[in-house]
Amino acid sequence: MLQKTGVTNSMNEQHESQKPALEPISPQYDPWDPIRSKRAFGEHRLTSVELTVTNLCNMRCEHCAVGESLSMTEGPKIPLSVILKRLDEVEGLETISITGGEPSYHERTVRDYIVPLLRYARERGVRSQINSNLTLDLSRYELLAPYLDVMHISFNYVNADDFHEVGFVNSARQAVRQTSAKLYERMVENTVALSRAGMFISAESMINYRTYEKLAPIHRLIEEMGCRRHEVHPMYPSAFASKLPVLSLDQTRAAINRLLDSRSRELWMLFGTLPFYACSELEADRELVKRLRSEPNVTVRNDPDGRNRLNVNVFTGDVFVTDFSDVPALGNVHADRFDEVFARWKSHPLCRTVDCFCPAAACCGPNLLVADTYYKHLDFTTRQAVV
Ligand code: SF4
Repeated sequence: MLQKTGVTNSMNEQHESQKPALEPISPQYDPWDPIRSKRAFGEHRLTSVELTVTNLCNMRCEHCAVGESLSMTEGPKIPLSVILKRLDEVEGLETISITGGEPSYHERTVRDYIVPLLRYARERGVRSQINSNLTLDLSRYELLAPYLDVMHISFNYVNADDFHEVGFVNSARQAVRQTSAKLYERMVENTVALSRAGMFISAESMINYRTYEKLAPIHRLIEEMGCRRHEVHPMYPSAFASKLPVLSLDQTRAAINRLLDSRSRELWMLFGTLPFYACSELEADRELVKRLRSEPNVTVRNDPDGRNRLNVNVFTGDVFVTDFSDVPALGNVHADRFDEVFARWKSHPLCRTVDCFCPAAACCGPNLLVADTYYKHLDFTTRQAVV
């Protein structure tokens, strides 16, 4: 049974009163999906900037996309004014995402960097997301509530033991089970409390060797905690996760079908970075693509990495196409406008390899890691959706 905590109504009221009327994030409106600008302008445009605001984290998850860069200490950040100036230059900016590490690791970062960033976004009508593990003091997350659109958490567990296995397997100091059980409880309590207070919490589960047979109970817990969306992504080998076993396409497809069979139809499910496309020669793939498109309250997001998003590291100023691919930095915030870096990426040979688009299937092509994992020798630019 999930524990419930009380957060005062004032947080809820403050949250509502400071929000101008913005279109609700919903299955019909997902501003992170690159297909929106592709449809509007006939080309991919930069609409999204992700900011890595810390390399510190109290966990060491085995699937962590940025695991290798996590550290114990870190230097000064680039002044926020420099970052805001660069964001200002992006005319078509629609979303920002704040990531780490655990962005809330230091309360000072929350107060001095994240809250001003979120305020800037809110004033500009730019939508915002934070990736957090929600295991720290509730008060840190309450500070974000008035300005934040989406609180994104990872949730791959059915109990505290799972959490311990997944979250501390890479920890130099092996977390004592009791300590990790407390963190798990706090994460669940925080999720329940913040959801009740009106925060939009999107819980992401990975489909991997640990989770693929228990996605249904994970989904139920996510719904019980009051999350507004369950995000599901297969796990691909990168950073810490590069040594983990990769599921076969058959295992992944079966896991998704089982989850769709057992899910709650009341809860929005967002699938992303899927390795199944409407151009597949396999009927089972095309059937799954069709099923995902026709299920109520289910959406498939095209991948922002390499399509409409850049990532900036606020310590070095380096700008990347994604926060976890092997593509080196394509520019630096001290020297380049984000639009210039994005233009550089669009003429990069790697970008061209996955630059396909089938409007009838609402598909903008595969993610680079996906193509590299499962379709190394396939030229997507010569393929066409079968619909
Ligand atoms: S856009 Fe690319 S990956 Fe998607 S269906 Fe078309 S050819 Fe296949």
